[in-house]
This record gives sequence, C-alpha cells and structure tokens, in this order.
Amino acid sequence: MASLFPDIKHSHHRCVKSAKLRATKLAEESGKKFGANQVLVFDALLQSHQASSAYEIVESVAKNGKRLQAVQVYRALETLIKMGIVHRIQSMNAYIACTSDEEHHNPQLLFCSSCKRVAELTSPTISELISKTAEQTQFKLEYGLVELVGLCPECTG
Ligand SMILES: [Zn+2]
Ligand SMILES: [Zn+2]
Ligand SMILES: [Zn+2]
Repeated sequence: MASLFPDIKHSHHRCVKSAKLRATKLAEESGKKFGANQVLVFDALLQSHQASSAYEIVESVAKNGKRLQAVQVYRALETLIKMGIVHRIQSMNAYIACTSDEEHHNPQLLFCSSCKRVAELTSPTISELISKTAEQTQFKLEYGLVELVGLCPECTG
C-alpha cells in the first residue's frame, strides 16, 4: 500500500484548491458563511501538511499583515472544527486543515513526530469497530477521531 503522506515534491496548490472547494461546499450545505478570521485561519493552516498550534497560526497570519488575538484564532478554529474542515490533534494541541475528499468523516490521524506532518486515514473498519465497541460497553460516543503517532516514510528512510 502506498504512503498516506503526500510526496515531498507534490503540487501542494492542488491540495489547497480541493480543500477550499470542499470547505465552500460544506459551508453552503450548512447555510453558513465564512467570517474573515475563519478564512485567515484556514488559509494559514492550508500552507502545509504540518500541524500548527494556535500561536503558530497567529504568527503565520501576522506574516500576511493581519494581527489576530489568540482568542480570535481559537474561536475561528472552533467553528472550522465543527464544520469538519479542520481537525484538532488533541495530544499535540495542534490543528490541521482537512485534506480528505470525503464530505463528513471521523478520520484516523497519522501524526509524524519528526516532521509534524499529518496524514488522514478513514478506515470504515476502524470506525465501525469503535462505534460497535462503544455501543456494547454503553459508552456514549460523541466523536471517534483516532490519533496515531509515529514516523512518516520520509522520516524513517
Ligand atoms: Zn499538499
Ligand atoms: Zn479530514
Ligand atoms: Zn515525517
């Protein structure tokens, strides 16, 4: 099976384009409009496949000439996460723009502890197993995002 991580030399503008299309579609469906801060935060996250902390987002937005407070970034992130176009890596307290083609999903996130890149895996088998186990053990599941930490092929090779 091929690596889930994008090739180092891939054309990232394509990732950006499809992520934006997906975001626009999801926003339309939910009848929401992106606020200016949400666009800034999403654009900052889309610059790479590396997870960013809220403070790194503040820095990155500032480089483009706009000063946001951390609290504004957190607020924008919260909305983007609810819309399903940004994922939070809880254990790292970092964020990533969703680059999946799927509209709604509870992905398994593969986090490379060396280069900080994140790849998404959506295995129906894993998702089903989680919901089934939750049901059998009377655990009321709110969402089933799974985080896996390791090394990507570039960092192992
Ligand atoms: Zn890319
Ligand atoms: Zn995703
Ligand atoms: Zn790596």
